[in-house]
Amino acid sequence: MNTLIDTYGRTHDYLRISLIERCNLRCTYCMPEEGIPLRDRAEFMTEEELIYIAKKFVEFGVKKIRLTGGEPLIKKNFASILDHLSQLPVSLHMTTNGVLLDKYFNDLEKAGLNHLNISLDTLQEDRFGTITRRKNFARVYENIQEAIARGFKVKVNAVLIKDFNDDEILNFIELTKNNNLGIRFIEFMPFQGNKWDTTKKVSEEEVILKAANHFGHKNIIKSPFENNATARVFQVANYEGDFGIISTVTNPFCDTCNRLRLTADGKMKNCLFSNKETDLLTTLRNGGDITSLILENVKAKKKGLGGLSDLSKSLSENRPMTTIGG
Ligand code: SAM
Ligand code: SF4
Repeated sequence: MNTLIDTYGRTHDYLRISLIERCNLRCTYCMPEEGIPLRDRAEFMTEEELIYIAKKFVEFGVKKIRLTGGEPLIKKNFASILDHLSQLPVSLHMTTNGVLLDKYFNDLEKAGLNHLNISLDTLQEDRFGTITRRKNFARVYENIQEAIARGFKVKVNAVLIKDFNDDEILNFIELTKNNNLGIRFIEFMPFQGNKWDTTKKVSEEEVILKAANHFGHKNIIKSPFENNATARVFQVANYEGDFGIISTVTNPFCDTCNRLRLTADGKMKNCLFSNKETDLLTTLRNGGDITSLILENVKAKKKGLGGLSDLSKSLSENRPMTTIGG
């Protein structure tokens, strides 16, 4: 029985675990150029602590775990963590920038992790360099192709930024013609240090209109809305894949939210935008009981957007995205 039910009746069965705060890319919307301050290793969960806490959530009813970061694949003991988590009765997913995927395909297959969200914001090599401040475009693109060929269920996450990559919307959708993959356009969201402002946002309506004008209105087919889904999904008629829009800013999906988060330093967050965190790790290390803390954290979940009256407050009152885990 699931006991992770908040005061608005939402049942939580999905845990997103950030394995590490650091990253091998420096996406401008996520991470400051110089990276984030290095912290003492002791401040982060060990493998045993992470598995212990994950097990608690599974006992309470979590059925889906997503590994994220920072970049989860730069975690030294990634394969071992994956192996342990694969023994839990959960569906395993991962969000990655894809740079190191080729080194881990076999481990992922062995663990039965076959849902991959791979982040790629542009199909142009020079733009990739601008947005990530690194030069790994070809590797990421090849790894996406390889993941599809190996039968992984692949979604490509593209954060849309006005006048930077919104001219590539149709090119991304074209990728779904002969590839069984989902494109997920993500609205640019505000986090500490990422220079967000409303003029950089590309709305859901703009994406749909662009697609409809190009492919023809009657050829844009809406997929049924799945429970707890974050994206509104569409398909171009006769295309293999689909595309969706995650419009957290303009059209949030808080009413059906089933997600909880565990940061790499062992803090529980009941919402991406919540600045109230529960320190599970310190209590665990002090021999305390994290059960009641987890349940209290769920009960404290706000109706929407972490209780922020204005999402732009997330710029000053929340962590940088890379330390939360997307
Ligand atoms: N490094 C991995 C990656 O890039 O996929 C996992 C962590 S990353 C923080 C998770 C997701 O959050 C990525 O798809 C990334 O594009 C997205 N993201 C980061 N900052 C964002 C922002 N300000 N607005 C919207 N999405 C963002
Ligand atoms: Fe790294 Fe992912 Fe953030 Fe880019 S979005 S800097 S890849 S954590």
